[in-house]
Amino acid sequence: MGTKRPQTIGDYARFGLDVGVRCRACRRTAVFDAAEVMKFFMLKKWSMKAPVDASRFRCACGSREVETIAVQVDCRPKPLPARVPLLTPLYVKQM
Ligand SMILES: [Zn+2]
Repeated sequence: MGTKRPQTIGDYARFGLDVGVRCRACRRTAVFDAAEVMKFFMLKKWSMKAPVDASRFRCACGSREVETIAVQVDCRPKPLPARVPLLTPLYVKQM
């Protein structure tokens, strides 16, 4: 473990890695599923290169002083905490 270096976001999942976004301001690390990050970045047509482009993230504390890191999937807490469901509209109409 830790010998393979991901070249793309796709490699994270292949190598058993999550995508961590570490905040320098509040020292929190938000950990994302690499496959979900990959899908989102593909949709947005953002660079798929590793390390994951930190400029795309902002911490919940409001800081943009973040860096992305690789976190072993094995480090996930069991069970995972419940996620906040987000409902987004299919489309928005202007009156
Ligand atoms: Zn923060």
